[in-house]
Amino acid sequence: MTQTARGNPDTSAEADIRPVERATFESYDPRTEELVGSHPTHDAAHVDEAVRTARGAQRWWDELGFAGRKQRLDAWRKLLVRRIDEAAGVICSETGKPVDDARLELILVIDHLHWASKHAESVLRRRKVSPGFLMANQAATVEYLPQGVVGVIGPWNYPAFTPMGSIAYALAAGNAVVFKPSELTPGVGRWLADTFAEIVPEHPVFTVVTGYGETGAALCRSGVDKLAFTGSTETGKRVMETCSETLTPVLVECGGKDALVVDADADLDAAADAAVWGAMSNAGQTCIGVERVYVVETVAERFLELVAERADKLRPGGEPRADLGPITMASQVEVIRRHVDEALNLGARAVVGGSDSVRPPFVEPVVLTDVPPEAEAVREETFGPTIVVDRVTSADEGIERANASRYGLGATVFSRARGAELARRLRSGMVAVNSVISFAAVPALPFGGVGESGFGRIHGADGLREFTRSQAVTRMKYRMPINPMTFGRSSRTVRHLMRLVRMLRGR
Ligand code: NDP
Repeated sequence: MTQTARGNPDTSAEADIRPVERATFESYDPRTEELVGSHPTHDAAHVDEAVRTARGAQRWWDELGFAGRKQRLDAWRKLLVRRIDEAAGVICSETGKPVDDARLELILVIDHLHWASKHAESVLRRRKVSPGFLMANQAATVEYLPQGVVGVIGPWNYPAFTPMGSIAYALAAGNAVVFKPSELTPGVGRWLADTFAEIVPEHPVFTVVTGYGETGAALCRSGVDKLAFTGSTETGKRVMETCSETLTPVLVECGGKDALVVDADADLDAAADAAVWGAMSNAGQTCIGVERVYVVETVAERFLELVAERADKLRPGGEPRADLGPITMASQVEVIRRHVDEALNLGARAVVGGSDSVRPPFVEPVVLTDVPPEAEAVREETFGPTIVVDRVTSADEGIERANASRYGLGATVFSRARGAELARRLRSGMVAVNSVISFAAVPALPFGGVGESGFGRIHGADGLREFTRSQAVTRMKYRMPINPMTFGRSSRTVRHLMRLVRMLRGR
């Protein structure tokens, strides 16, 4: 479905045809509804052309080699550092987030870009592997070659950080990139591509196509060599379906319902601080945001007091230094309202805020407790500054409840004695022990989910390899006295091998 200004679903009869007919669409500041910019609505023909041009650019980019690409990616990184406030301004105007949150997002982008360009060669270059005893006469090597043109589709909540988790790693691995940003944040995508082109003016190695979901679908069908999608689970499924038409491989980073487990021996101050930051920073619009807390009952009352104390102080607003910005996508406000109201109707207690906290475009912090497991607030992504805190008899029960979700993106554990052990039992792609969201800021760590949070990994060595195809090569160094792989072999050859295999592999 298409969306009107500020993301309200457009149910008009023309909704499905309008995007391809319209030449442009607009982005708006969610704090004021003021117009931010106008962008082309790219149709399938334009997207196909962008991918075709990128294919030529990719060959040039590949031929630069690791050193040539590193030099250019490092220059781009330095540009991003110099112009961080300009980029933060674009992010703030399209998402409404506070300026320091936009700066923090860009700091993460810069650090990941640094890691990707620094480590691409050591992770991906040709390396020798043991040929094993059967092929002792071979030199065996593996190399990770670029896939070609990577299509990236991104969301609006971290409009620089989330797509750059794919873009930076795909570029460092030698691919060209065609990026389709969210219709709510096209200016951020455009800014990233324009600044890249200042550093790499020779060829369109990294380009942007803008538009609605139809433009994204066109990118899926365009013949890209891989499609990296970040967004909601529902759209992720549609993207997979579209990509299946051409058997285009996909990386799918979707939503989550991340849990935080507080053990009886946890540092409660730190756990409360982490819960509130994890749930409410970026107004809760974080895929790895904390949405559920399971706290051991012996410390639950104190923990709730500490959470309430902190959450109560947070004020949403449109000013650059507000604690929380607005809900960027207007239609999400109704989801948040529905989750809060339903939980309260099912008998939950609001420790902070309640139904009245939803005042579009802002939502004030809401802390709910005693929420039954069947409530949407426990099962579905709320994506607002709300948190559900439920009591459990033990950290083990907390892990069980955390795992009882169709999602499995990130998770958090606060425990002095059992942190690592509990972490290992969580069904999630990432876990932070005694801190929150920290894994996303460690560029060497892979990032991605399980279950309906998606599959594939960005960041780290796994994230570099995700945008490559491994190529295995054997090169014969000398002829073996016995060769079983020829019609000219004698029966003695296989008998001889049988003896060897019994001796070396049979015991
Ligand atoms: P959406 O799924 O609504 O959109 C994501 C992107 O897909 C947008 O660019 C959108 O374009 C595009 N799109 C929409 N329909 C199609 C289609 N049929 N084919 C191809 N592309 C399409 O997600 P949001 O932008 O609302 O982002 C929020 C979601 O993203 C949350 O669920 C959040 O958890 C998740 N997320 C996951 C992360 C992770 O790393 N796992 C990180 C950050 C967010 P348009 O906007 O123009 O409709």
